[in-house]
Amino acid sequence: MKCPVFRHCGGCSYQHHDYPAYLNSQQQKLNQLLGSFAPVRNILAMAEPFYYRNKVQAVVSVTPKGQIITGNYKEQSHQVVSVDHCLIEDRLAQEIIHSVRKLIPSFKWTVYDEDWQKGIIRHILVRTAHKTGEALLVIVVGEKIIPGKANFVKAIRQKHPEIVGVVFNLNDRKTSQVLGPRELSVSGRNHLYDELLGKRYRITAGSFYQVNPRQTEVLYQTAIDLAELKPQDIVIDAYSGIGTIALSLADHVRQVYAVESNRDAVKDAIFNAKLNNISNVRFYSADATDWIYQLPFNEPVDCLIVDPPRAGCDETFLQAVKTLQPERMIYVSCNPETLQRDLKILSDAFRVEVIQPVDMFPWTDHVETIALLQREIS
Ligand code: SAH
Repeated sequence: MKCPVFRHCGGCSYQHHDYPAYLNSQQQKLNQLLGSFAPVRNILAMAEPFYYRNKVQAVVSVTPKGQIITGNYKEQSHQVVSVDHCLIEDRLAQEIIHSVRKLIPSFKWTVYDEDWQKGIIRHILVRTAHKTGEALLVIVVGEKIIPGKANFVKAIRQKHPEIVGVVFNLNDRKTSQVLGPRELSVSGRNHLYDELLGKRYRITAGSFYQVNPRQTEVLYQTAIDLAELKPQDIVIDAYSGIGTIALSLADHVRQVYAVESNRDAVKDAIFNAKLNNISNVRFYSADATDWIYQLPFNEPVDCLIVDPPRAGCDETFLQAVKTLQPERMIYVSCNPETLQRDLKILSDAFRVEVIQPVDMFPWTDHVETIALLQREIS
């Protein structure tokens, strides 16, 4: 494959394959893990499986010869691999990172040193919006005093007019997390807007937002089609993030109840509902398991959608689902191993009808899968 730092960078695992061979190996993995529940449909491939990542974060480092580099940590280490051209990251985001890197010497910013915990510039994070073309630039710094900040913002926005906001985020702790808890300053907006399936979303630096927007539309549309929603339906969206699934399907049903444990994500979700004039979705800030044992409504649930993190759903949650007995369940999973475990737990109450993988993360180890389950008549 064409990536010069493949094998060092740790981002992609399959650049040595061509795309059909990559898809085939993912398909085989899924057949093995999930084929006993139902035949696994062909993975929905990406038309052009490159430059899809809309959130790009580069660590800034300096070589022994004093050259400033940007890139990723080598797998399982804190050594930085310089990445000049990545095949899966958004092109505009990469150009912005290059421009920032070139500007660093003229502002005499020091590069953050992890061991000494000193220095200014630590990470460059860029989020881009596929539909609106907007970009948000976040400079993660290790110190509070940033000389020439206003001039830097002017210069970078002149070079890249797509940038709608520049955020300086302070992260002076010894941590592998990119963003620190505090924003030192914001020039312009602290968020960008993007659109999925005709709905608009506000996304801030730290928001969870699917990284491959083109395939996210494929994923959500497939989930909505498989759910065969009806105008009278009551739907639950559990693990709802900033509300993207709930708001994408709200027009098709009577009422959606969504639950998410991250408070900031719930705030974004409520904002996004208003932004799209949607009034039939209620968002709850709670642990999904606690919430499902004390449902705040009485109507029978027609369809339950879950989209948990890699760890999957916890067993107590799934036991409650069996008691709740929704007619249909859509399980959106980013980890086929935990999906296998959870389908087993559900298999005495539900029949698995469809397993549909979607290639959300081309060239990487990750794969997304939708399972449609139907309640067994008991
Ligand atoms: N459906 C959304 C988000 C999926 S990511 C989308 O497509 O964008 C999984 C989400 O589950 C994250 O937002 C995470 O904060 C949330 N989450 C993790 N554990 C949870 C729990 N125990 N209860 C509720 N939400 C949880």
